[in-house]
Amino acid sequence: MLKPCSTIGILGGGQLGRMLAMSAASLGYRCIGYAPEGDIVGDQVSSDFFANPWGDTAALAAFAASCDAVTWEFENVPLETIDRIPEGRLFPPRRALEVAQDRLNEKRFVSDLGGRTAPCAAVDTRADLAGAAERFGLPGILKTRRDGYDGKGQWRLASDRDVDALPPLAAPAIYEGLVRFQAEFSVILVRSREGEVRFWDSTRNEHRNGILDRSLLPAGEQVEAQVESARDLARKVADRLGYVGVLTLEFFATAEGPVFNEMAPRVHNSGHWTIEGAATSQFENHIRAVAGLPLGDTRTVARAVEMVNLIGEDVHESDRFLHEPDTHLHLYGKTHAREGRKMGHVTRLSR
Ligand code: AMP
Repeated sequence: MLKPCSTIGILGGGQLGRMLAMSAASLGYRCIGYAPEGDIVGDQVSSDFFANPWGDTAALAAFAASCDAVTWEFENVPLETIDRIPEGRLFPPRRALEVAQDRLNEKRFVSDLGGRTAPCAAVDTRADLAGAAERFGLPGILKTRRDGYDGKGQWRLASDRDVDALPPLAAPAIYEGLVRFQAEFSVILVRSREGEVRFWDSTRNEHRNGILDRSLLPAGEQVEAQVESARDLARKVADRLGYVGVLTLEFFATAEGPVFNEMAPRVHNSGHWTIEGAATSQFENHIRAVAGLPLGDTRTVARAVEMVNLIGEDVHESDRFLHEPDTHLHLYGKTHAREGRKMGHVTRLSR
């Protein structure tokens, strides 16, 4: 168990790390961040920040030597970087990152545990793509296996014409048949060092242009009917990985039951509502798990919750939320409102 005033290292410099550091501070811990320069906002609330490349072994050694425990807020931290963190100090485990960094691996991992996934195949060449499109049909989605997020590295293909118009394939990819879903939802859990697992309520998630737009509770009957089976799968994933911290699995609610889409071995945008809407937030419970503290209560404390992302220019109208009762504005300290960039979020509660 980490004593108060211990130091937690966070790999990654975005808003997730920033909110983790704020929770860690409430529990009496210091945070030190590490991320390559550019678009860093975690430094604004950390006691120190290493703005160095992922491959800078000297900086990584200095960072690791300053930390009593290390976690990440970004799942594309290279494994070579992770390997510079002394074993026993890293939570969640390396294996979680290894599985989640590759869309094909994570789908195989989950189907080996009995989960249903979208029909998919590896695509390394145009011939692979033609074969997969024939096998699973069009429309479908081509996704890069690595480094994609928020709809980046994805191409929706509706016809052979779209396939022909694609630029040359630059990276290993997968082709997924389109899942006909009724709703999307996420299962967010926290697992302690001792293996205790707690779940937050599952929100219904609505996306716009491949980016999360809103998360809602109650999630509606279609989602609620499928949460239990999705949780069973998420627990199996966490147990198999020996996971410590917050883990997110995203699902499609379909007529045949939950279909796994992807996992994030970290706190997740669809869990931001837990800051005000749950007895203990995802950020606090992640820090508790990493620090070896008892887990906090994950119960929802409102009748209804709506979390809305402020994306790009949306942020310029954020003042209006300050006039609404039981509405909580979070801005991430980003100065440039680029299109598609997550600038902040708002959580509205109905008690
Ligand atoms: P992802 O980056 O895989 O989470 O995809 C972003 C969003 O695209 C998802 O939340 C869905 O709304 C949509 N999507 C992704 N894959 C599929 C699929 N196989 N079938 C239908 N919709 C999908």
